[in-house]
Amino acid sequence: MNNGITCRFLGGGEEVGKLAMTLDLDGMKLLFEYGMLPGKPPLYPLPPPPLDLAFLTHAHLDHSGMIPLLCSHADQTIITTKLTAVLSNLLHKDSIKIAKMEGYSPPYSTRDIKEAEHSVLPVDIGQKRPIGDDCEVAFHSAGHIPGSLMFELIGSKKILFTGDFNVADTRLLYGAKSVSCDILFLETTYAGREHPKRNELEKAFLDKIEEVVGRGGVAVIPAFAVSRSQELALVLRKAGHNVWFDGMGRKVSKIFLKYPRHLRSVENLRKALNKINFIHSDHGRKLALNSDVILTSSGMMDGGPVLSYMNKLKDDPKSAVLLTGYQVEGTNSRLLVEKGQLDFYGVKEKVSCEVQYFDFSAHAGHSELISFAKACNPEKIVLFHGDNREAIVEPLSAIAEVHTPCNGEVFTV
Ligand SMILES: [Zn+2]
Ligand SMILES: [Zn+2]
Repeated sequence: MNNGITCRFLGGGEEVGKLAMTLDLDGMKLLFEYGMLPGKPPLYPLPPPPLDLAFLTHAHLDHSGMIPLLCSHADQTIITTKLTAVLSNLLHKDSIKIAKMEGYSPPYSTRDIKEAEHSVLPVDIGQKRPIGDDCEVAFHSAGHIPGSLMFELIGSKKILFTGDFNVADTRLLYGAKSVSCDILFLETTYAGREHPKRNELEKAFLDKIEEVVGRGGVAVIPAFAVSRSQELALVLRKAGHNVWFDGMGRKVSKIFLKYPRHLRSVENLRKALNKINFIHSDHGRKLALNSDVILTSSGMMDGGPVLSYMNKLKDDPKSAVLLTGYQVEGTNSRLLVEKGQLDFYGVKEKVSCEVQYFDFSAHAGHSELISFAKACNPEKIVLFHGDNREAIVEPLSAIAEVHTPCNGEVFTV
């Protein structure tokens, strides 16, 4: 007999950020993700109930950010890939540093971070493992960032939890494949929005850099340290520019090279990184200011070396800032796009550089979400991780029963 499966979003149901969802299965209490929304102030999900098992799809802080807190209260088992564990550990340490810098008390200690690292039960793409008496879980690549997973629970019903996923092949990763299931938990970051074609996007991006370099400027590319920086290094590989690389992305790149199974081609990544100058000193930073391209964190320009470069280049109309990720409201990159200004640690200043946005997103776009859901052929779909879920309810209602639960609401599917 099946009375349905009870779930609850502790956060991240109706928005992108601080994702966490509990799911009751065969008497077990499972948790998917325990994230945070970095910001001023940072936002956290509701406290979790006692758990049997936690699942983590990937390292981004909106999914992994509060995992150490779970481990500060009780012994936990966290199922994820080894690569995600390593990357999360790096991001957790960084988020404590940022919290302290911005005057917020960190929600957990470095000891909790260590505890979280030891709580991981590492799994691999393509594997299956039993959970409880009558259920097993299979691990599929999510194509989102290296190490990212989708979880398939196989019991009396088949359940797929996507986390963040991308179906398009990128330079760094192959896209995710659909998984046939009864209940589909579908992220909806890009519901209502389509992406440009990848090859056209890359061409426009490279053309713009050519133009900036041609007029004697520097192209500054603020990029997320995890995955986006490496994707862009691959895009830039054959363009022949003098590229300099700064920020946490350097460390992440070296980690990626140790996990070739999570990459489309470790050889291509190695070749791309070999063509780039890694910056290790102030001398390197000076040289970079006279180069063609500076690739650096942070992606939304709220900190990191990008601000020191912009401080030097802000009055140069020949230079350009090429944004490659989404600009969340309240971030410095959003301020730059909307008002042509940047906040340099409390002082807002005008920026004369050209500003352009290129959509190198690692999420499925609107039509891709629909085709993916269709191919999974579910009876029920639960939409989460999006602030515009409504945009996709109608097309999906044609194929399944669609749920859009609120944060905190207990619901049954
Ligand atoms: Zn993500
Ligand atoms: Zn996410």
